[in-house]
Amino acid sequence: MSKFVYDFAEGNRDMKDLLGGKGANLAEMTNLGLPVPGGFTITTEACQRYLAEGHHADGLAAEIDAHLAALETTMGRTLGDPADPLLVSVRSGAKFSMPGMMETVLNVGLNDESVDGLSRQAGGNDRFAWDSYRRLIQMFGKTVCDVPGEEFEEALHSAKVGKGVKDDVQLDADDLRALVTAYKKVFAKHTGHDFPQDPREQLDLAIEAVFRSWNADRAVLYRRQERIPADLGTAVNVVAMVFGNLGPDSGTGVAFTRDPSTGETGVYGDYLQNAQGEDVVAGIRNTLALADLEKIDKKSYDELLGIMSTLEAHYHDLCDIEFTIERGKLWMLQTRVGKRTAAAAFTIAAQLIDEGMIDLDEALTRVSGAQLAQLMFPRFDLAGDPVSLTRGVGASPGAAYGEVVFSAADAVAAAAEGRQVILVRRETNPDDLSGMIAAQGILTSRGGKTSHAAVVARGMGKTCVCGADAIEIGRDQFSVGGQVVHEGDVISIDGTTGRVYLGEVPVRPSEVVQYFEGDLDPALANEPLVAAVHLLMTHADGAAALKVRTNADTGPDAARARRFGAQGIGLCRTEHMFLGDRRELVERLILARTEAERNDALGALQPLQRADFLDIFREMNGLPVTVRLIDPPLHEFLPSLEDLAVQVAVAKARGEQSERDERMLAAVRRMHESNPMLGLRGVRLGLVIPGLFAMQVRAIAEAAVALAAEGGRPRPEIMVPLVGAVQELETVRAEAEKIIAEVVGDSGVKVLIGTMIEVPRAALTAGQIAEAAEFFSFGTNDLTQMAWGFSRDDVEGAFFWRYLELGIFGISPFESIDRDGVGRLVRIATAEGRKARPGLKLGVCGEHGGDPESVHFFHEVGLDYVSCSPFRVPIARLEAGRAAISSAGSDHR
Ligand code: ADP
Ligand code: MG
Ligand code: MG
Repeated sequence: MSKFVYDFAEGNRDMKDLLGGKGANLAEMTNLGLPVPGGFTITTEACQRYLAEGHHADGLAAEIDAHLAALETTMGRTLGDPADPLLVSVRSGAKFSMPGMMETVLNVGLNDESVDGLSRQAGGNDRFAWDSYRRLIQMFGKTVCDVPGEEFEEALHSAKVGKGVKDDVQLDADDLRALVTAYKKVFAKHTGHDFPQDPREQLDLAIEAVFRSWNADRAVLYRRQERIPADLGTAVNVVAMVFGNLGPDSGTGVAFTRDPSTGETGVYGDYLQNAQGEDVVAGIRNTLALADLEKIDKKSYDELLGIMSTLEAHYHDLCDIEFTIERGKLWMLQTRVGKRTAAAAFTIAAQLIDEGMIDLDEALTRVSGAQLAQLMFPRFDLAGDPVSLTRGVGASPGAAYGEVVFSAADAVAAAAEGRQVILVRRETNPDDLSGMIAAQGILTSRGGKTSHAAVVARGMGKTCVCGADAIEIGRDQFSVGGQVVHEGDVISIDGTTGRVYLGEVPVRPSEVVQYFEGDLDPALANEPLVAAVHLLMTHADGAAALKVRTNADTGPDAARARRFGAQGIGLCRTEHMFLGDRRELVERLILARTEAERNDALGALQPLQRADFLDIFREMNGLPVTVRLIDPPLHEFLPSLEDLAVQVAVAKARGEQSERDERMLAAVRRMHESNPMLGLRGVRLGLVIPGLFAMQVRAIAEAAVALAAEGGRPRPEIMVPLVGAVQELETVRAEAEKIIAEVVGDSGVKVLIGTMIEVPRAALTAGQIAEAAEFFSFGTNDLTQMAWGFSRDDVEGAFFWRYLELGIFGISPFESIDRDGVGRLVRIATAEGRKARPGLKLGVCGEHGGDPESVHFFHEVGLDYVSCSPFRVPIARLEAGRAAISSAGSDHR
């Protein structure tokens, strides 16, 4: 039979799954011998069973009885005993702390009789007893029975007004007794029954309410946004009450064991005398700085500081703490490893290394690529104290400002005039796509991180704040907290913090990016954050098994990525080299009627391509550069069918026929495809259009030879896209090898030939394909599209939000690799490819190469490198190091 209840002395900090974070850490503190009030934890499993079965699991009630009886024995008091009552708090506590769930009910066990017993315990302190009772009715009413909290607030307010006082503490015992009567009325009015007098019934109802709160709307929403599994359930902690509201020698407070923003040691926290529970955070009265406690109660203060250093030495990290002092006796009520900003995560880790508290490996586990990414986005400079309008969910990072527009059409029109706009919508749908592209950023009043707006914005790398539900959107204005913002007014949105400001907030470049760029303002060089990033990046690079390359198509991009630490190019796309003023040559190539015309066009393109490659090879001197032969369908280089058809028709009507346009139109018609992504592209082009791949191969080989002649060390790798069968690759290879041999001669240049694995058939026949490939590069964008049968441009906007809502996937498979499906294809191809050709080089060049989760997957699979956009190179480097350390750790376990 399962055990559903654990005494604090039975648990420990590693039992978060079962006891929740709060319960596990209360147990840990108990076992460290710290002063924690007695209590027990009801497990998450009991919650799961309750939610599944609609009632308590068999045996739970008996276990609660037994643990309560034990607690009563230790405390020498009985729950709710009229003469000398034991009171308890009932506190929720899931594995991950989660807003939206029921919080806490204090003072359970008080009723019309035991309130007098409590007064006697406190030496005849009636005021304290009745204050505790009114708090119970208020918290119980609100959290257990859904009584609107404002009604209690109003009753309290009128009690104060009636007496002509400002503060709760100025109400005396009689006032509070009257307030209890008023509260009971409010309670009965909303619930249809009286406030329960039976202490055990109070306890049971509170426990069930905590269980049920796991499925409260706000909790469900939060879990979805943070990708917390829905089936974990919450634990319930039942804790003997200690009282901070017994007079000036009592109080309650919160503290951090060190500065939560820099990690520097010191005393940080707030204290409130003569107060209970949440008064500190609720901001009811002005709190004191924790340091002031030294003057009020030196003994408790010293003990608290001692406990803080014990906790730090034990957790090896910044902890946050809740404590209460009851008549000069200190009690610990909560601790956990403290939450922190991205910048603080780095500086604290570095600080802890400095103090010898943790080593570099451990420090790497304390930071993440997602945090580094946050630090690399430009941020708002808030020095000017901009007007904060509201806060939503930071759904796609960045800092953007612009004029407010309310429709996609307005966004497009404004962008065409060169104006920057923020598109403000209740929520977005596929019709808004053009507006989203045109806008600097998107702000919505509904939906969270998985809404249409969020998914599409992240896909486009556009700043987005979602679910700012305080804003009321009208036709040409929105209002928030009494402030009206009209169309055309400027607002600023922060996609990391979710904050929305009025006006244009200046944007500050990231000092971390400046550091990576190598052009750091000398004044910042000693900045703790920069020093911490440098320290941890260096360690990550040393630890990593995966190399990190970049996707870059130009010399300047290559140079930038190299500064960001790229160890080569994993994907150099050649199609961009066919744009701009070279489009004309491409058109000539496509329209060529004879071999001579075609060769003429290719001959003109060849030296241009050679110059492109030489540029890139120079920037990446000594490092591998994978050049992908031309991949997209050629009609992408031609005008659109619609435009051209109109143009030709108009010309015809005017009698101004152009032979070239008509030939072009015929070509565009001929080349039109209903599924271009699955049509004539990739290796298929190379096999169909004579001389096209040959021209590119020659340009690559010649550029490499030219660099070698300059004394450089080129390492070109030619990559053939969209291969599905080894025969395709063999055909291309045979021709390429001839050209390479001819160009390279005895220059010593070596050119590798490999292929992308992006068609499922290629993954499934990787053993055969490896016979003709010196390397594989997984094109996980196409592989995802083809494995799922998704066309990315269509599906992300059309229905991904619904798939996320239904939990068909937890995150878009384009954002993070689908381990089970697409990942399986990668595993198969890796195993079979290496079996056929030991030493086969394996990498990834889809966008997943820069996604932290996916990097861990590629490390596990044992690839040689990932390749990602220059900006994500540092993130991938950090995660490659973290992946190596966490897998090394698991070997030892
Ligand atoms: P949260 O998770 O919102 O912090 P807690 O369960 O920690 O909720 O409780 C809210 C407040 O009540 C905290 O300030 C906590 O210290 C206080 N509290 C909880 N249990 C007790 C208790 N047994 N005695 C005194 N104060 C308590
Ligand atoms: Mg707490
Ligand atoms: Mg592709």
